[in-house]
Amino acid sequence: METNVIEQVFGKNVFNDEVMKRKLPKDVYSSWKKTLESGADLDSDIANVVAHAMKEWALEKGATHYTHWFQPMTGVTAEKHDSFLSPASDSLPVLEFKGKELIKGEPDASSFPSGGLRATFEARGYTAWDCTSPAFLQEDAAGAILCIPTAFCSYTGEALDKKTPLLRSMEAISKQAVRIMKLFGYDDVKKISCSVGPEQEYFLVDRDLYLQRRDLIFSGRTLFGAPAPKGQELEDHYFGAIKERVASFMKDLNEELWKLGILSKTQHNEVAPAQHEMAPIFKTANIATDHNQLVMEVMKKVARRHNLECLLHEKPFAGVNGSGKHNNWSIVTDTGINLLDPGKKPHENTKFLLFLAAVIKAVDENAEILRLSASNPGNDHRLGANEAPPAIISIFLGEQLEDIIEQIVRGDVSSAIQGGKLDTGVHVLPVIKKDATDRNRTSPFAFTGNKFEFRMLGSSMSIAGPNFTLNSMVADVLQDFADELEQAEDFDTAVHELIKKTVTEHKRIIFNGDGYSDDWVVEAEKRGLPNVKSMVEAIPYLVSEKTIKLFERQNVLSKAELESRAEINYELYSKAINIEAKTMIDMAGKQYIPAIIQYVTSLADSINSITSACGEADVSVQAELLTKCSSLLATAKKELANLEKVTAEAATKKEGQEQANFFQDEVFHAMNALRNPIDELEMLVDQDFWPVPSYADLLFGV
Ligand code: ADP
Ligand code: MG
Repeated sequence: METNVIEQVFGKNVFNDEVMKRKLPKDVYSSWKKTLESGADLDSDIANVVAHAMKEWALEKGATHYTHWFQPMTGVTAEKHDSFLSPASDSLPVLEFKGKELIKGEPDASSFPSGGLRATFEARGYTAWDCTSPAFLQEDAAGAILCIPTAFCSYTGEALDKKTPLLRSMEAISKQAVRIMKLFGYDDVKKISCSVGPEQEYFLVDRDLYLQRRDLIFSGRTLFGAPAPKGQELEDHYFGAIKERVASFMKDLNEELWKLGILSKTQHNEVAPAQHEMAPIFKTANIATDHNQLVMEVMKKVARRHNLECLLHEKPFAGVNGSGKHNNWSIVTDTGINLLDPGKKPHENTKFLLFLAAVIKAVDENAEILRLSASNPGNDHRLGANEAPPAIISIFLGEQLEDIIEQIVRGDVSSAIQGGKLDTGVHVLPVIKKDATDRNRTSPFAFTGNKFEFRMLGSSMSIAGPNFTLNSMVADVLQDFADELEQAEDFDTAVHELIKKTVTEHKRIIFNGDGYSDDWVVEAEKRGLPNVKSMVEAIPYLVSEKTIKLFERQNVLSKAELESRAEINYELYSKAINIEAKTMIDMAGKQYIPAIIQYVTSLADSINSITSACGEADVSVQAELLTKCSSLLATAKKELANLEKVTAEAATKKEGQEQANFFQDEVFHAMNALRNPIDELEMLVDQDFWPVPSYADLLFGV
């Protein structure tokens, strides 16, 4: 029988549980499993045997090197390859991989952002094996490389990466949620994990065209560009038929992801032309995070094979939708109970209502840092811009849960609105059961059946930040809940009172209406909900007293680590805008302005030669164009000079908040002022003179 490609390739390049079972001696395998479950330190003998098995497996698959694969604060992954070569006494080297090499690495870390955490003279950083995320094989032009997922920290143990706080937060929420489960009589629950399914949006453009746009190359987004005659107004791209070239990219992408054990599940065209989405089946938070980093890398790699470029920037094109990432998140026990599953009778499901109340309180109390966790320079173009969620955090619960919350607040919960039937009126179609938790596309934080969907994330971001933030803040609330309920004389009464008190106090965060409307901005302000408009405005919340208290209490990040992260965020913002400004200066000075001069010269030549050939001839069209283009050209030159001036001035500002503010208020503004006349000129100038591919070429060129 023919086997399906999924069965053939799935997990082929992963050193997963099944391979370990096969490759490891029985006793080693079982003590390895025990170590995993208990979270204890790995015995060095076991580590040696695992390392050896891993090496043998990798060698069989043609690997020559291994690497500790980690996620520094750059937001992308880092790797430094070492071959398995080891010197031997005779002439032939041996291929070796020891337990200590598996467990710990010492990359020279001085060039990664540390936000002042590590003194520059102390270059050393450590990578430590995250044995809960399986090792995998990366195959590319460099051959096959054994990749070992690791966390990255400083000599003194401070987190220098995205993964360490995520792992710490998973422990935090597990510890507190287990306490709650005990109170409900679930003594068998030993561990709780967070499940995460990130939906990834992206654009695909022709690579030859991409290479002609310095803005796409250097900053990932178009910094100039007049709109194409057609955008997304016909809504014909969303879920539309997938073009051959894109389909063949998706086929390859799926295969590569399946090989890595990534559960690539859904693919479709998104709203904007040239925009697409891939969604995997959910996994435990840290594995989902590793996988999402791989998804982004593999997308870029596979696109190039098809002479395409994959754009992961949040806003590659003005005027059409940008890309985000929906972070579906839930909490699940090691016995398989999804704690956010309301069941058939949510109003009687006290356990569910308590966890729901915890999430509501956590989000209401920590909206600013949740918003920050979804901030990057690219996402500033989306949040609050009527295509992505608003910058104001609110929770959408759907009709059924909102009604239950109302009943709780009133003090008598007796019923749940049921979903009902969906009758299409066509007899040949089956009658479908309707979800009682309907959908609201405009909500940043929506309950969708048995999970929350945090929809603010930018497409290029690591999902580690939003998830460790979410885990930590929910853990913190659960800790207070557990403290209170463990002391209660009558648990049943206490838990109902606690739910009632919590939802009454935090009801203001629940909003089922249209998040895009101006009324909501006014209403949210009345409710006292924060409206943090930009990344730079959000950063200070990372080092507020409240935030420090929360992360320190949950042992997720210390004050010093948070301060370093705030610095890194400011730096990241300033650097991104600086690159964009410099790219605009480069393109305007070397490409656009010279091209426009050529065009206006051709108009002048035309006027001169026509008038000298025939004095009566009407050259008013050329004259009008010449006047208009020359005037816009003068504006462009003036704005270019201004952008050069403010960008130079930005470099003199004190690094950190002051500089980031200057970039946001002055440089970003000057960039737009330069873009406007150039985009206007693009609509006037003969396209043969225009130096770069247009929006129409890029968005409809595949
Ligand atoms: P949509 O939001 O587009 O309607 P789905 O409801 O199918 O799509 O789910 C989107 C994502 O949510 C998928 O990645 C899916 O695996 C993930 N998901 C489903 N259930 C859970 C859960 N319990 N925890 C975390 N993620 C989940
Ligand atoms: Mg979704």
